[in-house]
Amino acid sequence: MASMSALDTVTVIGGGLAGSEAAWQLAIRGIPVRLMEMRPTVVSPAHHSDGLAELVCSNSFKSDDPATATGMLKRELEALGSLIIAAARAAAVPAGAALAVDRDGFSASITELIESHPLIELVREEATVVPDGDVVIASGPLTSANLERALSELVGDSRLAFFDAAAPIVAAESIDMKRAFRASRYDKGEGADYINCPMNREQYDAFLGAILDADRVILKEFEQKDLFQACQPIEEVARCGADALRYGGMKPVGLVDPATGERPWAVLQLRAENHAATAYNLVGCQTNLTFSEQRRVFSLVPGLENAEFLRYGVMHRNTFVDAPRLLAADLSLRSNPRIRIAGQLSGTEGYLEAAGGGLVAALGIVNARLGHQTLPIPEDTALGSLIAYATNPDTSRYQPMHVNLGIMPPMDSIRAKRARRAAIAERAAAAMLEYSRAHAEALHPALAAASEIVG
Ligand SMILES: Cc1cc2nc3c(=O)[nH]c(=O)nc-3n(C[C@H](O)[C@H](O)[C@H](O)COP(=O)(O)OP(=O)(O)OC[C@H]3O[C@@H](n4cnc5c(N)ncnc54)[C@H](O)[C@@H]3O)c2cc1C
Repeated sequence: MASMSALDTVTVIGGGLAGSEAAWQLAIRGIPVRLMEMRPTVVSPAHHSDGLAELVCSNSFKSDDPATATGMLKRELEALGSLIIAAARAAAVPAGAALAVDRDGFSASITELIESHPLIELVREEATVVPDGDVVIASGPLTSANLERALSELVGDSRLAFFDAAAPIVAAESIDMKRAFRASRYDKGEGADYINCPMNREQYDAFLGAILDADRVILKEFEQKDLFQACQPIEEVARCGADALRYGGMKPVGLVDPATGERPWAVLQLRAENHAATAYNLVGCQTNLTFSEQRRVFSLVPGLENAEFLRYGVMHRNTFVDAPRLLAADLSLRSNPRIRIAGQLSGTEGYLEAAGGGLVAALGIVNARLGHQTLPIPEDTALGSLIAYATNPDTSRYQPMHVNLGIMPPMDSIRAKRARRAAIAERAAAAMLEYSRAHAEALHPALAAASEIVG
């Protein structure tokens, strides 16, 4: 790489999972980095330490089974030479099929690697403006208020959200179509856009009773402010009265159940979440119920008895941009490519997803400086499908997403679930192998550094 001057320094804002990964990927390729982390000067409501890459909640990186989307993501990050996955492997604690870590050891090792890298200047300061030059903004779901203001000016108020209000998403193949039916209200729209789960009065009453009784996630104080103004969770609507749901989002008007020839008492509608229609969103069912209660309550709805949840509903404080409208596949702003947004702020969700975003943003800068075209991570991989989903301008009503099989290209020709998942994992591994071979030279420094970390 050509020699760099101070002007070539990249500013990375946020020393979390995405920012630490991005800073490291740039530095090991000879690019100087100014990494701005506001802690401990300014504290976040969820972080407890001043360490980099602090895990704010669980110490688990989820399943390590290669036939799961999270297992695929781990292998893909390894193939790309990720710092975060290497440090996680080195700090692993026994956790069955999951990869879990000693959180203090994990954060301490990353802090030490970053602090001791000669090309990284770690500045413990809050960023309140978006600086000049190449920038990776990775300030996370709890971005400071001052930077939120600067971001609003940069991307527009309407393109920045401050909380998740996500409804559950289920696998299409797990919906019982003998009980559910396809139709749009009054037959409007392009054909039968919705899957409808019809309820009679008894079924509706049972569902309502269950939702009123169900356990909710106790929100932290910082998450309660402003949360419910935007989008009422289904359990709050249910509390407004016995008919509130069936006069609201579950209204049966314009729908006739083909099994009875009559209008149902209430209907839960599901809308396709992706082009392949492998994943369906429970319309209007944003919820704060615990995950196990979501499984129990929604399984009372005819057609969803055995629904497989690809994502559970969540409601919490979360700053993120409207990625489908703002970001290109290399996570640069379409309106200003010198600025990249990575991690949870870019509208993905999850520790390793954040690391993956930081890595992609850094590779984009490296390629741009070398005059190389940045090839997107293949869509057949877990990471590539997540980025494709998040940056697809056709995605409307965007809510943050984590990796899952529902957003990966389907393999419908294989009917047996286990065999299909194994085939998807095999296809993902082959796609990543091809990608890493094509980028062998660019990936070499990261792979060499990662193998030293894992030891
Ligand atoms: C309460 C909570 C619990 C979560 N639990 C989980 C979980 O268990 N498992 C999971 O997979 N995901 C979880 N997530 C989601 C997500 O994966 C994590 O938030 C993850 O840490 C995101 O990585 P990130 O790098 O984008 O942001 P972070 O890891 O939050 O890093 C952002 C960094 O930017 C700093 N920063 C913010 N503003 C500024 C500024 N203006 N200037 C300088 N620095 C700034 C912050 O101090 C922070 O260090 C949780 C999120 C929240 C909010």
